[in-house]
Amino acid sequence: MRTTIIETKDRDGESVELFGWVHGRRDHGKIIFIDLRDRSGMVQVVFTPHQKEIYAQAEKLRGEWVVRLSGKVTARPEKMVNAEIPTGKVEVHPEALEILAEAQTPPFPLDTDGYDTDEELRLKYRYLDLRRSRLQRNLKLRSEFIDRARQFLFKKDFLEIETPILTESTPEGSRDFVVPSRLHPGKFFALPQSPQQYKQLLMVAGVERYFQIARCFRDEDLRADRGFEHTQIDLEMSFVNQADVMAMDEEMITTVVESMGFKIKQKPFPVFSYQEAMAKFGADKFDLRTEEDKKNGTLAYAWVKDFPFFEKDGGGGWTFTHNPFSLSQPEHVDWLMKGKNIDQIITTQYDLVCNGFEVGGGSIRAHRSDHLQAVFKVMGYTDERIEKNFGHMLEAFRYGAPPHGGIAHGVERNLMTLAGESYLREVQAFPQTSSGRTAIMSAPSALEKDQLKELHLKVSE
Ligand code: ASP
Repeated sequence: MRTTIIETKDRDGESVELFGWVHGRRDHGKIIFIDLRDRSGMVQVVFTPHQKEIYAQAEKLRGEWVVRLSGKVTARPEKMVNAEIPTGKVEVHPEALEILAEAQTPPFPLDTDGYDTDEELRLKYRYLDLRRSRLQRNLKLRSEFIDRARQFLFKKDFLEIETPILTESTPEGSRDFVVPSRLHPGKFFALPQSPQQYKQLLMVAGVERYFQIARCFRDEDLRADRGFEHTQIDLEMSFVNQADVMAMDEEMITTVVESMGFKIKQKPFPVFSYQEAMAKFGADKFDLRTEEDKKNGTLAYAWVKDFPFFEKDGGGGWTFTHNPFSLSQPEHVDWLMKGKNIDQIITTQYDLVCNGFEVGGGSIRAHRSDHLQAVFKVMGYTDERIEKNFGHMLEAFRYGAPPHGGIAHGVERNLMTLAGESYLREVQAFPQTSSGRTAIMSAPSALEKDQLKELHLKVSE
């Protein structure tokens, strides 16, 4: 029976039953206005003293109280129309009012954009912070973005497959979060920095087209566009080359964001080599928008490719620049295998840049065990260490692995470009604080002695 508030705009003359929060209350002595809010929007409710009982109740109402209200939708007099809100041509004349929950005064105002409110306070009361229209919009945008990506990938015959969260460390250039094992004393799981190895194993398994809305965990220094947890739209395909993956991905992004009403600056996306990008922008991520584009919310995508595979690691050795599971460009496989001209080996990595953020990245992978071994050899790994850390991949590749490649999109960074936000926390429901604690709850926290014992752990003083 419920009518959502946005629907009232087309219900002139009808009786409706509304549920929601008191957003604001203006008492003009002989008349009380309530702005009633639900997930769909806001509408004005008018209480007049000739309805004695309801008026008395309305006098008690305060901000954020939860009510059920039935009443009649009525067109506002011409000069009372509020062009600022979608329901501005109507108002509701109440017939019954029930208070479902009273509310304490929120610790900060909810009718602002919230940028000025202290971050710790916002995250401590995130469930209130999220009531803001800006954050409601961001949550909606995120859900829609993921939904449309998913629908696109289903149409292209991808399977959505979940991979483990309790897993073994995969190097993605960051520190792992680890989980102690109760059953195996002194042993630890690592949370995935990405599903990289499992998605490749799914290619060995013959899946051919995989995707996942994947949670990734990286214990790294927090920044505006980095948190301990982020979500990826992660995909992998078999029997493809670099151009195939880039084309599929570009079609996905274009389809998704255009169907959401966004404008893309240039199609097909311009492509820069790493060298060109560095020469032109001094960085491998850059913003191609003009001031005008910025005002219009235009999205300026560009690809960057031809990155060096390796860079000096600071200790005189080599390390990977992007992803150790990548293959070099085909013409450099010979150098890779011989460990020759290491500084000149170009990887198959491609990064997608948008409005100054790196919003995606992927590569064609080594699908032969000798190629993968060669990558780790360049980085100075001994045969034993390669076997110990990646023996499972080498073994899998010996059972007929298809050539494959893929890409992952950081959901938050994509959302930041869509929503025009500068901080990751604005597009995640429950982000960590910048000091690395959870919103609302106070993790990380101490464990009880019994729990530590069960996990075979001792905390040193
Ligand atoms: N696993 C990579 C990452 O998290 C993405 C990829 O190469 O598919 O950056």
